[in-house]
Amino acid sequence: MNDSPALEPGYFLDRLQSTDPEVHAALADELRRQQEGIELIASENLVSRASLDALASVIVNKTVEGRPGARYYGGAAHADRIEALAIERARRLFGCAFANVQPHSGSQANQAVFLALLEPGDTVLGMALDAGGHLSHGAAVNLTGKWFDPVRYGTDAAGLIDLGEVERLAHEHRPRLIICGGSAYPRAIDFAGFRRIADAVGAMLLADMAHFAGLVAGGAHPSPLPHAHVTTATTYKNLRGARGGIILTDDADLARRLDSAVFPGVQGSVILNAVAAKAVCLGEALKPAFRAYAAQVLANARCVADTLMARGIAIVAGGTDTPLLVADLRPLGLTGAAASDGLEAAGLTCNKNAVPGDTQPPRVTSGLRFGAAAGTTRGFREAEFRQIGDWIADLLHAMADAGGARDKAEEQAVRTEVRALCRAFPIYPGLGT
Ligand SMILES: *Cc1c(COP(=O)(O)O)cnc(C)c1O
Repeated sequence: MNDSPALEPGYFLDRLQSTDPEVHAALADELRRQQEGIELIASENLVSRASLDALASVIVNKTVEGRPGARYYGGAAHADRIEALAIERARRLFGCAFANVQPHSGSQANQAVFLALLEPGDTVLGMALDAGGHLSHGAAVNLTGKWFDPVRYGTDAAGLIDLGEVERLAHEHRPRLIICGGSAYPRAIDFAGFRRIADAVGAMLLADMAHFAGLVAGGAHPSPLPHAHVTTATTYKNLRGARGGIILTDDADLARRLDSAVFPGVQGSVILNAVAAKAVCLGEALKPAFRAYAAQVLANARCVADTLMARGIAIVAGGTDTPLLVADLRPLGLTGAAASDGLEAAGLTCNKNAVPGDTQPPRVTSGLRFGAAAGTTRGFREAEFRQIGDWIADLLHAMADAGGARDKAEEQAVRTEVRALCRAFPIYPGLGT
């Protein structure tokens, strides 16, 4: 049947399942993995069916550079509508004057901030990786650490940021940029205190709210925006949308510099299907239901922390004010690598993570990081997260009792229960069938 005049018949009609069974099979297996396992990786979430629609739309074909209304290619009217919607929604959601929704990731959002605010070699004060900072805040292996001069603050014995140390380092090293926010720092940050220090040494303040942007959007966490000169975020963690980054500011001059730093500074054309999906998730976050979601994420993260502590497992900083928490496995004599393998076999996906003062290498670590964002999207509340905390504690104690060896029988027993819980909270019904 000549169903399409395209050079390859079927090009506009045939679905992946028939044209490329290998890729299709891997995607189908991934859907099943997500449906039947509990996602506890703090940087993950489950996007809405509507976000998937936007991601898989033909806007992916369109190439644009520049800003809405000021493009370098024609045919951009609908691309402009989409990006303008995303910008307007980001501004409304976070209550700021300017937003750039083009960064392909949180790291590229931060790179753009570095490019806009700094010269190569400038001093930057950010949080150390093992204390919970992010690679893009000046880690030695990252371009922000190679091309700039990073100074790092850590956490105190209780796992908390010591503003006195930040202040001392700021006065000693005179950074041009100070960064607050991290990937594994569970507690609320004193944004006003950071701003006072930045002002005292003439530095700019970047707040990277990647790991609590959803809570800020939903009113469950203080906003850094009134305090920071510029704020970056990822859209795919607790903000619950498509993969990507955003940059926010109230300063018009800074906004212009940030826009040119994104394009043509560090990026080329816009990934428009990602921007469309960002518009969708920002629209979802503006709805009243998202406030309930954000409050539940926080309650659930605290529930896991409390459950683990009640079972004798050490939690960094003694709990959490964000969607994430970090277990310190040193008292159990376990490594993060072995423990995360054991939990994954039981259907509980999390990641190994350095703890403050960790002496294990990054591929091993002495901690586990957990997040409540994806499970909450699925519909889990405290009862389910208490159960999850108990499963984690059962598995960790079984390993510790066996001198670090994995207990395959215990893993399989939990795996069966995890699958049953997941079936009671189905995700993406009808997808892939
Ligand atoms: C996740 C994260 C980012 C961005 O990471 P990408 O993988 O580049 O999207 C940036 N900063 C912090 C603090 C993060 O946690």
